[in-house]
Amino acid sequence: MQVSDLVFDANRLLTVKNLYVKYKSYWYIYHVLNDISINVGLGEKIGIIGESGAGKTTLLKSILQVLPINGKITSGEIFYRDVNLLKCSKQILLEIRRKRVGMIFQDPLAALNPVFTIKDHLLEVLRYANETANIDKSDLINIALDLLRDTLIPDPERILNSYPFQLSGGMRQRIVIAMALASARELLLADEPTTNLDVTIQAQILKLIGELVEKRGLSMILISHALGLIRKMTERVYVMYGGNIIEEAPTFKLFNEPLHPYTQLLFKTAPKILEPLSSVELRGNPLDYRNLPNGCVFHPRCPYGDSEVCRKVKPHQVKVEKDRTVYCHIYGS
Ligand code: SF4
Repeated sequence: MQVSDLVFDANRLLTVKNLYVKYKSYWYIYHVLNDISINVGLGEKIGIIGESGAGKTTLLKSILQVLPINGKITSGEIFYRDVNLLKCSKQILLEIRRKRVGMIFQDPLAALNPVFTIKDHLLEVLRYANETANIDKSDLINIALDLLRDTLIPDPERILNSYPFQLSGGMRQRIVIAMALASARELLLADEPTTNLDVTIQAQILKLIGELVEKRGLSMILISHALGLIRKMTERVYVMYGGNIIEEAPTFKLFNEPLHPYTQLLFKTAPKILEPLSSVELRGNPLDYRNLPNGCVFHPRCPYGDSEVCRKVKPHQVKVEKDRTVYCHIYGS
């Protein structure tokens, strides 16, 4: 059976349910994802925002099951087109990774092998993505050239024969985007795809990703510190803090009226389009994932977090409107 044979609900291309992930070091266990549930519909563009270390990258890596060796999914479910990725065969998982879901990683240098040319990288991905289509090497090279043109790489024939170290950071990131597009026929996972690039290149690359996603009719999960671009490029946003989803809303509602105190602080202190969220000033210390606080995970830093209920009781999901939820006692019944 192939994944394409499966009938599924178009509103649920990807569903993550009650996911818990831990990282283990020699001495400690870090609770990095705690009861995470998200959903992505066919053609939908989702944003995930939150400070560095909130668990956003771990969530994307969990979906593709490419967590580091010390990371473990301890419970939960991940469905892609109704296939449970945590229980399916290795063959189905590989089919999804190679032909349906592409991921743009944060660091293009780490994603490219310095001893292989760009052609080697692209042909490797394209071979797997087209393994049943019986396409010969010259056709694959033409597809690779088209991908480079799509990502606005000048002189693609020359770049194809270059090594990663011969290219600028912006060009390497475009190569990584081209590789992700080769396997992303349905869903693109973009994890802070402009980290380490200068501000003007960041805006160009994100604009390019937005256009390519639109042109190819892809669904997307975009993690970015650029709030203005999340606002422009996504339809719905999840806000993460301390390995938890703390708010979910359609993008325009979230930006017009953030409900959770953490989201309000984020928007208040990071108003500029490309302002890094890491510069957000919050009172208190960053979270210790070995020992998360009781009650609301945000209470030690929340301006309203001094009540007993905030300190002792974890907030449940509150559906404030049909299409938006928040996890905060202020909105509880
Ligand atoms: Fe702040 Fe309490 Fe709401 Fe948590 S539950 S965000 S501590 S008000």
